[in-house]
Amino acid sequence: IIVNLDMEGVDGLRICSQLKSMEQTRQTPVLIIVDPGDHQRLLRGLDIGVNDYLIRPLDRQELLARVSTQIRRHRYTEQLRTSLRTSMEMAITDPLTGLYNRRYLESHLSHLITHAVNRGKLLSVLTLDVDFFKAVNDTHGHDAGDRVLQELAARLRAAVRSSDLACRTGGEEFVVVLAEADLPTAETVGERVRRMVAAKPFLAAPGCSLTITISLGAASLAGLDDTAEDLLKRADLALYRAKREGRNRVSLSAA
Ligand code: GH3
Ligand code: MG
Ligand code: MG
Repeated sequence: IIVNLDMEGVDGLRICSQLKSMEQTRQTPVLIIVDPGDHQRLLRGLDIGVNDYLIRPLDRQELLARVSTQIRRHRYTEQLRTSLRTSMEMAITDPLTGLYNRRYLESHLSHLITHAVNRGKLLSVLTLDVDFFKAVNDTHGHDAGDRVLQELAARLRAAVRSSDLACRTGGEEFVVVLAEADLPTAETVGERVRRMVAAKPFLAAPGCSLTITISLGAASLAGLDDTAEDLLKRADLALYRAKREGRNRVSLSAA
């Protein structure tokens, strides 16, 4: 954006300061045009954060050169920002399902626990494992299995609140962290997820619909020294019990 500081009835510096404070234009390069001798306003412009300036009389070649430099620099930093954002996302999400990955769960769950403990709030986790998933791969192929996992992730996301943390922690294993939820609430949510999975067949490949079930374990924060590891361990033990007791069910941790 090129701003002429000698416009009539308009304060060019004010426009610059607005451009530099608004979220949508903060990163856009601003170039000002000033009269020779108007050092005061030039300095104020630089204070505000304008990116470059030109002093009258304007030289066409110089104007073009300065503008191209600003545009080049701007594009370059935009690219850096985009690639940084992409790599940050890649570090915390699972590429197959778009859910958070195990690394993110492990680093984040302890913060959520501290947060809950400090505020005297509850917190529960659900662990999920697909029943007989090996048979899906063995019978229909790995791609069909992957499709099932993607659809499962979508159903899982739809069944929980957006503030809940849904993660894929391993092959066909998932964890959901439910903030401010006690064990009966976790059971209700787990039961809803279980039903949403079992109720409707999964399209694993064109013309190939499969009925999929999952088993779930639920555990709640217990005591002030409860750790992320302990909590997940208890939910996993409950999950193994759900498997032992016949699968396609939610089992609650006793502790
Ligand atoms: P259970 O009811 O006891 O959980 O039986 P299961 O067959 O699901 O259990 P098991 O742990 O033996 O098998 C898990 C299978 O998940 C093994 C592997 O074939 C499959 N698997 C793991 N990761 C992936 C993946 O990323 N994509 C696909 N398609 N399959 C995967
Ligand atoms: Mg498993
Ligand atoms: Mg399994």
